[in-house]
Amino acid sequence: MTHRQDLLQAFDALLEPERFKDYGPNGLQVEGRDAVKRVVSGVTASRALIEAAVARRADAVFVHHGLFWRGQDGRVTGWMKQRLALLLAHDINLYAYHLPLDAHPELGNNAQLGRHLGLRATARFGEQDLGFLGERADGAGFADSEALAAHVRGALGREVTCVPGHAGPIRRIAWCTGGAQSYFESAIAAGAQAFLTGEISEPQAHYARECGVTFLACGHHATERYGAPAVAAHVARELGLEHEFVDVDNPA
Ligand SMILES: [Zn+2]
Repeated sequence: MTHRQDLLQAFDALLEPERFKDYGPNGLQVEGRDAVKRVVSGVTASRALIEAAVARRADAVFVHHGLFWRGQDGRVTGWMKQRLALLLAHDINLYAYHLPLDAHPELGNNAQLGRHLGLRATARFGEQDLGFLGERADGAGFADSEALAAHVRGALGREVTCVPGHAGPIRRIAWCTGGAQSYFESAIAAGAQAFLTGEISEPQAHYARECGVTFLACGHHATERYGAPAVAAHVARELGLEHEFVDVDNPA
């Protein structure tokens, strides 16, 4: 059992949100009860995740995608009303960490995705140093773009979109989870032979072909499934709390 505020301090101490310029508030987004014993983690503070937290009698929810983002109109209607109503009715604390959760060097989304794919980061690149650059942890390379895509497909259990730009074996791989397709150009500048992220937009296919660097879109949700449970489990262990990760399936 811990106090809501002590849990916030533990997350803040680990993730250092003050170091980031972000698209929404990091930390405690919705205040619930004082005493926290059970934490549910997930990727997004969707209604399905909040309902799962209610069913598990959680005192706190820890997510990557919280409720409040820059550019929202601020009205509490529709889906926002429903999510907030559930949290408030059940007195559940909502903690959300966006870029700080992507960035953490061991427990964050990028670090944990790299680990899941058997990649070791040797450098960082891009805005706010969010991009990871490295190679296979076992020192081997991939025979070609298709071999890399097949590896990722198997590891994530989902289809990936691969635009093979680089011809031949691939060793230097860059990655940045979620909707980080705009990091592709800095990955190219950093010397990557392939770049993995969650989503693709129209320009990236052309950059891949014209710059000779392979682009892989592996799913926004699928690439961001690993940071939240790693951080929540770590902090729960530290404070003696119960923790469970709930993966709400998302085709995106
Ligand atoms: Zn995301």
